[in-house]
Amino acid sequence: MTFLGARTTNFRNLADDEISTQAKDVFLVGENGQGKTNFLEALYFCSYASSFRGARDGELVKNGEKDCSVQVNLEDVFYNKLLVKLETGKKTIVLDGKNITDRKELLQVIPCIVFCHEDMEFVSGPPEERRRFFDQTQSLYDPVYLEDLRKYRKVLKARNTVLKAGSFHADNGVLDSLDLQLAEYGLRLMEKREEAVRHFSELFGPLYEKVTGIDGIAIKYAQSWKQETVGEITAFLGERREQEKVLGMSLSGPHRDRFVFTRGGAEFSAKASTGQRRLLALLLRTAQARRFSLMTGKKPVLLLDDVLLELDPEKRRKFLEVMPEYDQAFYTFLPEEPYERYRREDTLVYHVLRGALRPMSQVRSGNS
Ligand code: ATP
Ligand code: MG
Repeated sequence: MTFLGARTTNFRNLADDEISTQAKDVFLVGENGQGKTNFLEALYFCSYASSFRGARDGELVKNGEKDCSVQVNLEDVFYNKLLVKLETGKKTIVLDGKNITDRKELLQVIPCIVFCHEDMEFVSGPPEERRRFFDQTQSLYDPVYLEDLRKYRKVLKARNTVLKAGSFHADNGVLDSLDLQLAEYGLRLMEKREEAVRHFSELFGPLYEKVTGIDGIAIKYAQSWKQETVGEITAFLGERREQEKVLGMSLSGPHRDRFVFTRGGAEFSAKASTGQRRLLALLLRTAQARRFSLMTGKKPVLLLDDVLLELDPEKRRKFLEVMPEYDQAFYTFLPEEPYERYRREDTLVYHVLRGALRPMSQVRSGNS
């Protein structure tokens, strides 16, 4: 699957324009604050109907406007055209003339993998961020997992509401039923997380060693529930019920699972240098893309935002050597970066200035 072109309207600072992206590699070159990341975000917005920067939908609309939209033409066996628009806060997704109501369906259409600054949170942020990363990795190829995750969260929310009602009002019959559902969905998540993280770790360790020379890095899955059957879990929940009623929340379960980077059995990331952590984040994405291809036989589209910028020349070279296979990749560069070195004959290079994208050859020959 590749993007043939994109038309944005009132999307952040981007000019309302139709941009051809008909190339395997597309470079966006420009000074700070010109709209390079915004263009990647527009493509991502089409892929998942959300922003990778954790922005609220409203922030995507150009200042002073009410609505925005992104329409992309696709080169794909099944799909041709996708439109995502926001109109006074309401999101509409139209795929080849058909309305899509569940964003989950989009996951199967455009498998975009984004490499961005915010990925550092997967390494340095709270445990929740690492859960988010692994849930996302699994959801890219396993819709049943995503469905179980949604159901688990729904039961968890209901359970917390009952627990919050306080020790006197919490209904034990209702809690018994919620405990059972929490255990069933939770166990399914745990089983998949366990297997997926084992495989992921086997991919990730050698990648990290190849780029940094540091061997023995693994990712450990530390489950909140040590129990192995639904019966054992509900019994455990039963024992802790009174305590949970007092605190008004669910204290255990997959929403408290941890994923830890280890080396020689000890936690690795907390003491790692900034560069080492940056590479942990970059290679998490690399392994995510590789795992996606292994599981689906398909290649993703990569959105690489400033990834080479923060690496020394040696790490750059090694990182490019382990790049996952892809159908199409979009890269952002600052003008002084040696992007010409990475450019191939058929690479499309755009100059980005105040939200407008112009083909580089045009800029060079003075036709801009
Ligand atoms: P850098 O090299 O610093 O990462 P960039 O080219 O990636 O720069 P972007 O993040 O794509 O820059 O663009 C940022 C610009 O977009 C800023 O000038 C910002 O003010 C502007 N911008 C962001 N959101 C909106 C919006 N909703 N409406 C108008 N302009 C916006
Ligand atoms: Mg940027």
